[in-house]
Amino acid sequence: MTTVAIIGGGIGGLSAAYFLLEKARSQGRPLHLYVLEASNRWGGVIRTVREGGFIVEGGPDSILSFKPAGLALWRDLGLEDEIMGTAPGRRAFIFFRGRLHPLPEGLTLMIPARLGPLFRTSLLSWRGKLRAAWNLVQTHRTPDGQDVSVAEFVTRHLGREVFEHLVEPLFAGIYAGDARGLSLRATYPQLLELEREHGSLLRGLLRRVHAEKARRATGSSRRPRYTPFVTLRSGLGRMVEALVARLQGLADLHPGMKVTYLEPLDQGRWRVYLDDGGALEAQHVVVATPAHAAAPLVEGFDPDLAHLLAEIPYAASVIVSVAYDRSQVPHPLEGSGFVVPRVEGRPLLACSWTSSKFPHRAPAGKVLLRCFFGRAGADEVASWPEEDILALTRQELRETMGITGDPERVWVFRWRPALPQYTLGHGERVAAIFHRAAMWPGLHLTGNAYQGVGIPDVVAGAKRTAENLLLAS
Ligand SMILES: Cc1cc2nc3c(=O)[nH]c(=O)nc-3n(C[C@H](O)[C@H](O)[C@H](O)COP(=O)(O)OP(=O)(O)OC[C@H]3O[C@@H](n4cnc5c(N)ncnc54)[C@H](O)[C@@H]3O)c2cc1C
Repeated sequence: MTTVAIIGGGIGGLSAAYFLLEKARSQGRPLHLYVLEASNRWGGVIRTVREGGFIVEGGPDSILSFKPAGLALWRDLGLEDEIMGTAPGRRAFIFFRGRLHPLPEGLTLMIPARLGPLFRTSLLSWRGKLRAAWNLVQTHRTPDGQDVSVAEFVTRHLGREVFEHLVEPLFAGIYAGDARGLSLRATYPQLLELEREHGSLLRGLLRRVHAEKARRATGSSRRPRYTPFVTLRSGLGRMVEALVARLQGLADLHPGMKVTYLEPLDQGRWRVYLDDGGALEAQHVVVATPAHAAAPLVEGFDPDLAHLLAEIPYAASVIVSVAYDRSQVPHPLEGSGFVVPRVEGRPLLACSWTSSKFPHRAPAGKVLLRCFFGRAGADEVASWPEEDILALTRQELRETMGITGDPERVWVFRWRPALPQYTLGHGERVAAIFHRAAMWPGLHLTGNAYQGVGIPDVVAGAKRTAENLLLAS
């Protein structure tokens, strides 16, 4: 019997438990699994609240459909009928110089991949457009092995305006990060591949779009089944509920159980100490907590590993969802929402028009908006008193969308600190962490700190962890 203790019941820990059980069952191997979660709620930053006819996401609200691991898990869990894309024809906007500008059409990997929309956009000056187009005749290749920031890379190819007005806010809407310090290799390696192949981002993207068009014309490529962002009809919390239901009865599930530290014993066993004063033993431990919470667990036996883990910075964020009567909102809301560039100097990072994107998430006649606060480097808002956060939300919605009335309902979710920042050198840092962890047989690390922040990346990482663990036992 292999005994495994999984520490952390976010999507990383829960899906690692699921994959372990599935694989052990298919190999006919007996497995005893503990899942230990510090809080009283499963799911980590995934949290769906359903009340008064509203479906409110406290953390993530959708996943990328072209990263297969997320959709594959949903199907395995029998959630196929729940999968839904965003409402058709919903455009996103950028709040820039006092008004909302539609995103240029045909963005690929956040970059304008068609010249018509690039020249027509109101987000760039003529100078900015010509600078971007100059990339058609530029050639540059980042030396192999050199890490470069998203800001430096995009500015070098397409100029400062494309970076500041377009790429930076889209990027921050995902990573809450400061693109000036984030590693391109760790966040968008696809852009590096385009550069390597074509020497120019714009040339590479135009060729890619052209090739895709040709494939569609000859019928060798079909339109994707889903929109780029997909969700579950009753909220992403449904994924957590389905996972916990699958694990029930097959694993020892312990919410409200914080792990305080780990101790390696003889013969490849581990003792896991709990904050209620108890302890348990296992052959394998899967640490699926944020890196800053993993550091104290390993500090006692490997201070270097603890130091490396603690070096991964995190940003805090706040999600405020507000509900209004439709009559209170002067904006037509024909779109999916907007992001705000850092150069605007606003605390608001993004605002999703949830009830336009997913109309069933608010009762008829009501509007549900989701405001995202907490830019890397300016995320103190997460520790503000609730009334100050609400005042800020009202101010931001007044100034960006002209909403003056008070919301009918408000939900505030604080995530302190929850989003890892893949800063320059992240790839090397993670390689060093995995190298050190491998010196301790039975120790496994998974979760959003290492090889991808999005839910599909975390699920894919959990699956790799489960496979490696079973190979090693
Ligand atoms: C505000 C926000 C919006 C996001 N939006 C999206 C989105 O739209 N789409 C998308 O794909 N991704 C999104 N993400 C990213 C994605 O949701 C996360 O990266 C992912 O859910 C993290 O899962 P995890 O299991 O690695 O970590 P977590 O969810 O952080 O879970 C870790 C768990 O470990 C527990 N823990 C910590 N210490 C201990 C201990 N000592 N003992 C026991 N348990 C412990 C914690 O309580 C927590 O439950 C978003 C993230 C945030 C914060």
